[in-house]
Amino acid sequence: MKVNDKFGDTSDDKFNDKSDGIFNDKSGAKTERDCVLCGCCLEQCPLFAATGREELSPRAKALLAGPSKFAAATLDEAAVAELAGLCLACGKCEKLCPQGVSVPRLIARLRAEHPDFRQWLWKQWITRLKPFWSLAAKGAALMPESMTSALAPAGLGLALKGLRGLRPGLGLRPWLAITKFPAEAYRQKHADRPVVLFDGCVGSGPRKVWADTARRLLRGLGANLAEAGFSCCGSTLGVAGLPGDQLAARRANVAAWRKAGRPLVVTYCATCRKGLAEYVGPEGGAGLFADAEEEAAWTASVTPLSALLAGAQAKAGRGAPAIVGWHKPCHADLGVGPADSDFKLMGALLGARLRTPAKAGCCGFGGIMQLGAPELSARVGAACWDGLDGALGFSAAPEVTPAYVLTDCSGCVMQLCATAPQGARVGHWLEVIAAK
Ligand code: SF4
Ligand code: SF4
Repeated sequence: MKVNDKFGDTSDDKFNDKSDGIFNDKSGAKTERDCVLCGCCLEQCPLFAATGREELSPRAKALLAGPSKFAAATLDEAAVAELAGLCLACGKCEKLCPQGVSVPRLIARLRAEHPDFRQWLWKQWITRLKPFWSLAAKGAALMPESMTSALAPAGLGLALKGLRGLRPGLGLRPWLAITKFPAEAYRQKHADRPVVLFDGCVGSGPRKVWADTARRLLRGLGANLAEAGFSCCGSTLGVAGLPGDQLAARRANVAAWRKAGRPLVVTYCATCRKGLAEYVGPEGGAGLFADAEEEAAWTASVTPLSALLAGAQAKAGRGAPAIVGWHKPCHADLGVGPADSDFKLMGALLGARLRTPAKAGCCGFGGIMQLGAPELSARVGAACWDGLDGALGFSAAPEVTPAYVLTDCSGCVMQLCATAPQGARVGHWLEVIAAK
């Protein structure tokens, strides 16, 4: 029996696709599906798992922000705004929802309707202050630990630790040399098509080493590298409830891609990839693409770097840790291209050296949620590290197996750095790739 059948919701199944939470009602009009309280989403919600609080569950948020706005009608403005802030936008719930309810999308809409200082701060940070990120990271690193602790009650302790995580070279050294590139397979598939790298906000700033290494790898494949001048993918702006700024970022990126001759767009961040994938469809934004053909060309052009490197061979050199942990970002399989391709590439290159928890945890970053509820963000982060410890066993013998964790999302890198146990090493997988 399908989950929906339990609730007698079968009337329009054969006519409607539940994947986007929209269905055609009997008059043919598009209608948004509402939560049926089945609870299928609860077990995967990191906030609910870490707190057990029903008001933080996806189900409660769907009642707050879904078509019925059932809970919102009984709460005052301040309570609605507070609850709207308490979601990591991890998307784990929507993967399980038989109704196709997208809580992150509902919450983004609710945040836009109830703006507060966090959105303003986030907007400045993403759209105006990017040139100063490296400076801010250095400043945070110079701050004594006592000052970081003193700022914790004001909710800034975790954000400052995350800022430190923006600095390059936090304990990671390159030790993995690519010995063979799948250049022939690349040439057969893409020939001389121009390729541009989507550096992302962190890779174009404080962790430029990611973009530099990615370009080196693309040259190793024989790619015809070009430049396109992209801005933020817009994902984090949309989640924060800033749809106008998100659309502006999307428009700027599509225009840059068009100007560059519609090249292949290569990414190395799971959240950027998800953000770029969301440009298409009714949620992407009116007039973003000239026509359906251009929209399809965009989808076909966004490609994970790791997918292009499938079939590469590598050799671990001096300094290689015996055990390497992998943190799977929540957005790893929500973008375009092969699902979770970064993990697959690293698994093929590192073999048994690479370990990951059977159940992927959320790092707890959540964009603006970290600003408004750092204690919750830290609690989810601690649960994530517990899961990594279960797979790696670093707390039992840290001198033999130090915590060493790679991932493929810039937000996860920042948050894992902020919540890591003493002595842990964390970074993007590109940081361990050695220059040839
Ligand atoms: S998006 Fe993540 S944190 Fe938000 S309700 Fe869904 S599972 Fe929970
Ligand atoms: S959000 Fe979806 S999965 Fe969660 S309780 Fe509602 S209908 Fe069920």
